[in-house]
Amino acid sequence: MKIVFVTNNQHKLDEIKNILGQEFNIVSLNDIGCHDDIPETGDTLEENASQKSNYIASRYALDCFADDTGLEVDALGGQPGVHSARYAKETDHDSQANMAKLLDKLGNNNNRKARFRTVISLIVHGKEHRFEGIVEGRIAHQPSGVRGFGYDPVFIPDGYDKSFAELGDEVKNQISHRARAVRKLAEHIKQQHV
Ligand code: IMP
Repeated sequence: MKIVFVTNNQHKLDEIKNILGQEFNIVSLNDIGCHDDIPETGDTLEENASQKSNYIASRYALDCFADDTGLEVDALGGQPGVHSARYAKETDHDSQANMAKLLDKLGNNNNRKARFRTVISLIVHGKEHRFEGIVEGRIAHQPSGVRGFGYDPVFIPDGYDKSFAELGDEVKNQISHRARAVRKLAEHIKQQHV
């Protein structure tokens, strides 16, 4: 089954191909020749995921899915949440600056509880379905590890004492927010469409 993943983030594409395996032919925006700056103007992860999938489904008439992820930190009232990508800079996605801002805002706060939450909007045959994946954890006092991307160096998932950036893909792909949401998506597609 051919399905467009509404992204050009190679890292996310690799992660998802890894999780979904060979049964699915996952193609990127590049692969379908889409170089548009797809709007992401929603106030929630749900709205953004839907906005992206509907954009592609309506213009290309292809089955597709889009995800939106946020890091929700309890002591910051759920921030950066839907603003995770551009937390430090309005115009730029700068992971180092984002982590620095987050650590600065948290300071020595002992409540470091946080979660990654992913929402996926899937459109198959014009019908939309949503899936959610969550991984609970805590924010480290400083970044560690070089693997992964985004906030991985400062996020320690529950049950571990290392960050996602230290644990790497083998562990991350088992327990991550995206992995959990993608597995629900895969289950759904296998039941309904294969
Ligand atoms: P997106 O919706 O997947 O683009 O995620 C928004 C932002 O959340 C990204 O730009 C990253 O900063 C952060 N993010 C998303 N997924 C991850 C992850 O798996 N690890 C670390 N940071 C992530």
